[in-house]
Formats: sequence, structure tokens, C-alpha cells
Amino acid sequence: MAPAEPGPPPHPAPVVIVGAGPAGLTVGNILRAASVDCVVLETETREFIERRPRAGVIEEWAVRGLRQRGLAGNLLERAVSHTTCEFRFDGQRFRFPYTELTGAHHFVYPQPLLVTDLVREYADVRGGDIRFGVRDVRLHDLDSDRPSVSYVCPETGQRRLVECDFVAGCDGARGVTRASMPAEHARLSRHDYGIGWLALLAEAPPSSDCVLFGCHPRGFAGHMARSPEVTRYYLQCTPGEDPENWTHDRVWTELRERLGAAGAPPLTEGRLIEKRVLDMHDYVVEPMVYGRLFLAGDAAHLVAPIAAKGMNLALHDAFLLGDGLVAQLTKGDGTTLAGYSEACLRRVWDYQEFSQWLSELYHGTAAGDPFRAGTTLARLRRLFTSPAAAAAFAEQYLGTAAQY
Ligand code: FAD
Repeated sequence: MAPAEPGPPPHPAPVVIVGAGPAGLTVGNILRAASVDCVVLETETREFIERRPRAGVIEEWAVRGLRQRGLAGNLLERAVSHTTCEFRFDGQRFRFPYTELTGAHHFVYPQPLLVTDLVREYADVRGGDIRFGVRDVRLHDLDSDRPSVSYVCPETGQRRLVECDFVAGCDGARGVTRASMPAEHARLSRHDYGIGWLALLAEAPPSSDCVLFGCHPRGFAGHMARSPEVTRYYLQCTPGEDPENWTHDRVWTELRERLGAAGAPPLTEGRLIEKRVLDMHDYVVEPMVYGRLFLAGDAAHLVAPIAAKGMNLALHDAFLLGDGLVAQLTKGDGTTLAGYSEACLRRVWDYQEFSQWLSELYHGTAAGDPFRAGTTLARLRRLFTSPAAAAAFAEQYLGTAAQY
């Protein structure tokens, strides 16, 4: 580890949390609820993280976990329940009423609203320490009993050092904490789908009462309501493609084509307020722990947004890590922390496998291979002809398995 540079005297805190996304803020809130001191370090401003658009679909167990920790007040008031999704293929519409089949549903609550709720609760209600706009975060002595984290303070330009007992690495896919694990200690497994998605936010009301998946020979298209005024759309494209290749007219022509089906109402078009290309890839770090560093969320595992699972996994990690740190720091009970990585990874690998399976369902008909197109259509049809296949899909889609 890099040695800490000289600066003002160190400020100790039992836990330093790197990153104020859903994972880091949830861990911080759990610690503050148990009166455990911590410091959250975030490179962006509060305004930025409260507006960054990303996820929207949250699973019931995750909302239950937030509610049990006093973090779901606004969500329960404002989130919309999703009970059905619709596949469109072969020019037809196939509705999949998963709540009718299972009794379970999805919550739709935009990630910026959840982050806004979590920051307010942590900083303004529970009195948590959070430092925005920090630069050049570095981790030190992770394999000792007294690790520390240093950063450059945006106001003074000076390097500050925070000594701690534990570091929570919650700084997402592009953070520094994962890279602080020695390569010989952690295995990084990657999967690249070789597929891009043009992720769009349209200033337009939803065009359907449910999520739409268009499995079309020209490529996948998706439709997901975010609010009464804003809708997320996806279009399969070439990975690394310049989003500017996609003009307003091209986007809406492709969406109409790929989501078109007999009897489907027309799409409600609107101004495109976000347009970026996501390269579909996954990774998993094993174990998620090194010395006193515990990774959580996208810092430890990225799951392409194919199955809308990433934020759910980040929350799952955060519940286990927050509870484990509280047990260790208030009762000296290290059982949860000792089993943390294994308990997280079981759900992570299950969700990764489902994303791969779903990727073939979404993209197989556009692979340019008639054999793959044939097996993909068989897989799609089976969901609507076999109750056993429908039940298995619903369980994975909703994350309701009794055990992982
Ligand atoms: P992040 O949200 O990435 O938070 C990490 C934080 O760390 C950020 O605030 C970042 O600024 C900060 N940071 C970075 N580097 C540093 C540093 N060096 N020092 C300090 N701070 C740092 N998931 C779902 O479950 N459902 C969905 O519907 C869904 N849809 C998605 C749609 C899109 C288009 C995308 C891109 C993702 C989607 N996801 C979805 C995935 C989800 O958004 C992520 O999995 C989730 O944000 C992970 O949370 P996190 O807290 O681990 O990381």
C-alpha cells in the first residue's frame, strides 16, 4: 500500500466508507442507527449524486430490508408496483403476469430519489459525517489492525488522513478500493457479452402499463417506466458506438420497429434527455474482503443492466456489511463479517447466471445465426406454454428464491 503523506493530524473513525452510492449510504445509515461513527468519502457533489440517473427496479426483499432499517419511508409512499412484463416477438405481444403467478411484485423507484433519501437520512437526520468532492482517495495498511484512508480535501488542497478499524469499499465500478486489493489475493472473473445498449431517457410518459422487452431480428429494445413524465428505453447497438450516431429520428424509428406488435398502441415519443452507450459486461471479485477492507456493490461485482439486478445486489451487500460491522464494533461478534463474502457471492453468482440466460433471450434472435434464433424463439415460447418454465423465470426475475 502507498504510505500516507504528511498532513494535519489524523482523525480516527471506526469505519471509513468510500463512495456515496446506494451501497455506501446504506452501510452508513445502518452504522449511524447503532451510534457507530463513520466517515463517508465521495468524489462528486451532493447535487450530482442526487441527480445521476441509473436504476429503477427494486426487488421486494430489498425494500423490506430498507424498511426494517427505517430507510424506505418515501419509497413506500411514492414507488410504483410493477406486476407484469410483456415480451414482443414474432410480431405478437405476450404478457407475463408475474404477480398473478407468484404474489410478488417489483417496486419502481428511480435511483436518484433513493440516493436523495439515503443522503438526507444519513447526513441531516442521523448526523453522519460525509465529505463531498474529495480527490485522490488512497487506502493504507489494509492488512494491519489499523488501516487508514487519505484524500485531498477540496477546500484546502491538503491531504487528510482518517485512521479506522474497517474500510467499506463502496465506490462503484470505477473506484479505487477494488484496485487496492493485491492481485495475488483477489480473483477477478470477467464476462463480455460483445453487445452494446444505447441507454435512453425520454421526456415522455410511458407507452405501456408495464415493462416491454422487444426480441427482434434487428436487435433488442426495452421500455421501462421511470415516472409519469420520463421513460427509459434501451436499443441494442454495437459496443463502443458513438451515441451521436443515433439521431432522434433513428432512435424512434428503431424503437417503433423493434417494439412493434399486432394490436400494440403507438409509442409516445418525446425529447431524449439521456443518450449513452453501455457495453454489456460483468465481473466478480472473489473474495470481497482483504484484511480490513470489505467491498460492497459495483466495487465488488458488476452485473450488466440486462436483468436490472445491480442495485439490488448493492443493497444486499450493504445490509450484510452494515449489520456485520455493527455486530463486530458494538458486541465484538465477528460471525457475520467472517461469512460476509461467501453470503454475498452466492446471490451474486445466481444473479449473474440469470443475466446470462436472459441475455440470450433478448439478443439471440438478432445474432445473425438461424440456429440461435430458433433456440431463442423456443426459449421465449416455453415461458408462455410451460407453467414450470414460467415459475422458474418469475422466481429469478423477482429474486424470490428461498435460498441462494
Ligand atoms: P455506485 O452507485 O456507482 O456508487 C459509487 C459511488 O462512489 C459514486 O457516488 C461515485 O461517485 C463514488 N466514487 C467513485 N470513485 C470514488 C473514489 N475514488 N472515492 C470516493 N468515491 C468514489 N440496478 C438495479 O438493481 N435495477 C435497475 O433497474 C438498474 N438499472 C440500471 C440502468 C443503467 C443505465 C445502469 C448504468 C445501471 C443500472 N443498474 C440497475 C445498476 C445500478 O445502478 C448499480 O448497480 C448501483 O448504482 C450500484 O450501487 P453502488 O453503491 O455499488 O455504486
